[in-house]
Amino acid sequence: MKVLVKSGGEAAVPEWREGFQAYDPRVSAHWWEDASVAPEAVDYVVVWEPKPGWLKTLPNLKVVFSSAAGVDHITCDPEWPRHLPLVRMGGDAVAQRMGEFIVWSCLSLLRDTRHYAIGQATKTWSVREGCFTATQRRVGIMGMGNLGSQAARMLQGVGFQVQGWARSRKELPGVVSFAGAAELPAFLASTDILVCLLPSTPETAGLINADLLAQLPKGTAVVNAGRGSHLVVPDLLAALDSSHLSGAVLDVFEVEPLPADSVLWSHPKIIVTPHAASLPSRLDRARYVAAAIADFEAGRPLPNLFDPERGY
Ligand code: NDP
Repeated sequence: MKVLVKSGGEAAVPEWREGFQAYDPRVSAHWWEDASVAPEAVDYVVVWEPKPGWLKTLPNLKVVFSSAAGVDHITCDPEWPRHLPLVRMGGDAVAQRMGEFIVWSCLSLLRDTRHYAIGQATKTWSVREGCFTATQRRVGIMGMGNLGSQAARMLQGVGFQVQGWARSRKELPGVVSFAGAAELPAFLASTDILVCLLPSTPETAGLINADLLAQLPKGTAVVNAGRGSHLVVPDLLAALDSSHLSGAVLDVFEVEPLPADSVLWSHPKIIVTPHAASLPSRLDRARYVAAAIADFEAGRPLPNLFDPERGY
């Protein structure tokens, strides 16, 4: 079975190959531009930002695997093969890493890590007094899927009060669940740290805007690890500069890499990370894809399928 890989550059192919071979020696991995592989011979692809129009040139492709949990980098191609199953990267490794990032972000906001980073750079001894403990803060997670629910469990582990908002109601022990647009205002009004782990869809584009931010209590902080499209940056900046918001951790941006002239890089209340919240190792991802291929070949269902109706 031949898998073409377009993720991490050509130099990463040996690592992908090693991961596939360790799990299932029947799978051989090749760089997407490998001229020795005829388009008709390709069974599967694992891709990040596939070149528009390329996927439709593979006539015997069975499944498209996204090398990330989001699939917007594939579905933005007007010609992506809609008739094929599209699998989002998932599994324990992705969720664990994201959970760690969200716990780190919330603790960083709680302890004002940005303030201390600036203090260290300027050799300034300035103590933030009277900060809250985790037990005194309510973290509200938008998007309670694979990643959001794991983040909720891990946040509870360090003492945060946790609530979640999604399209449908969830039952996670100790997590207050809000569902749908009707319950969004109540969710926002009872949130001290807002965490976005939503997928990028037409419904979620620009959701974190001035109107939404105004519904958060004064002093709320924001973490965006979903997609850059969720956040209206000028609205966030206005809310930070008026002190309605206390801080933000941003991992994803409308334009990536974040341009050097972006004000976000140096804002005193913003921590910027380079879309690094949850990047499982290639070996982990190869194992996940190889296991899914084995399931598919054996007639078992594929995991984490993209649903075109829902848009995620
Ligand atoms: P899932 O599909 O498992 O979960 C998505 C969640 O969002 C679900 O709870 C869903 O609700 C909810 N949701 C979707 N649309 C809406 C809406 N319109 N209103 C309210 N809730 C909505 O995805 P994952 O948890 O695996 O991943 C989430 C996102 O995280 C990815 O799409 C990607 O954008 C981002 N991500 C970022 C990474 C990073 O490094 N920064 C790495 C990996 C992912 P319901 O449960 O009711 O269906």
